[in-house]
Amino acid sequence: MFTFEDEITDTLQDIRDAGLYKSERQLTTPQSAHIATTTTTALNFCANNYLGLADNPDIEAAAAEALREWGFGMASVRFICGTQTLHARLEAKIAEFVGREDAILFSSCFDANGGVFEVLFGENDAIISDELNHASLIDGIRLTRARRYRYRNADMGDLRVRLTDARTAGAQRVVVVTDGVFSMDGSYAPLRQICDLAEEFGAMVLVDDSHAVGFVGDHGRGTPELSGVGDRVDLLTGTLGKALGGASGGYVAGPKAVVDLLRQRSRPYLFSNAVAPAVCAGSLKALELASTSDEGRAALRRNTELFRSLMTEAGFDLLPGTHPITAVMFPGDDGARRAAQMAEAMLAEGVYVIAFSFPVVPTGKARIRVQLSAAHSEDDVRACAAAFVAARATVG
Ligand SMILES: *Cc1c(COP(=O)(O)O)cnc(C)c1O
Repeated sequence: MFTFEDEITDTLQDIRDAGLYKSERQLTTPQSAHIATTTTTALNFCANNYLGLADNPDIEAAAAEALREWGFGMASVRFICGTQTLHARLEAKIAEFVGREDAILFSSCFDANGGVFEVLFGENDAIISDELNHASLIDGIRLTRARRYRYRNADMGDLRVRLTDARTAGAQRVVVVTDGVFSMDGSYAPLRQICDLAEEFGAMVLVDDSHAVGFVGDHGRGTPELSGVGDRVDLLTGTLGKALGGASGGYVAGPKAVVDLLRQRSRPYLFSNAVAPAVCAGSLKALELASTSDEGRAALRRNTELFRSLMTEAGFDLLPGTHPITAVMFPGDDGARRAAQMAEAMLAEGVYVIAFSFPVVPTGKARIRVQLSAAHSEDDVRACAAAFVAARATVG
């Protein structure tokens, strides 16, 4: 007779057999452009550390000071006794940065996306979601009783069909939901066209800007700034766990009344502990740095442009674009194997990148996803491109 644990062991074996088992490399250093693990040292090209703030000394100092001044933990949800003036300041700063009336802080953007839809959309409403949206949006939408529609990635013809379907079905509130940046491709959602269509159909727009906030757009305000649609996006969600220091925390930003209602009813907000004071203070400093200086964004842009041009010159097949997520494609039947072998050979060259294949990306579209950072020097970027060339010679 099989025990529960035997069955679980079988499931794990299935995962291994499918080549999908994820082992965690343990870092022995802070997160940075140059890292060490228990087995090697490497240039890191797979963190979401876009502005290089994860080990920024000013942020570390702000967090250390807050640790002494405000204590280690809150031991309370926000509405009981877990709100310090620090939390309110961080929320005001997030709202200001992304140009919204108000913002509400969650433990993560996963929680923000998990808690925003159920409060705002019910059985008479419709949610229309891009097929490539982040798992947390998908889960958050599944928690609602709203009618759900999915449109093909960034396909405006298909979005129009779904909007028409929702209106024909008599939906009251209708919302179009999209990632600002699609994380496997580094492509931007066509926000101007999405806003045009939404307005035509009297629908709202919600954008998850996790892979954009802090560095996309001239002032880092994200994809609405980049697309010139500023106020036309009704609701924004995003993370503090990527460009903005990379610790933890997520938010929903939008009209004051919406934020107030989320404080009353959003379950991950009501029933989960407040963000630690040191994280709040560090994130406040990250937002201050991102709003007062263009240096990080300029370095990130230079590195991204340099990497994309070096790789194109070397004959690699890149998905076109300008985002620091750069997908180096290995198409075809044995693409998954080649991408994996390349990533392994590159680690031997001292460059850490990750290969993605089915089911994370479509079959035949295996890739290595390179993520540039402001923390990389020009030499680091050149070393990464050189490692691709060397690995290609090894792998063939
Ligand atoms: C990373 C990411 C999240 C999750 O953010 P956390 O704060 O780490 O939970 C949500 N949505 C998108 C689009 C992301 O890229």
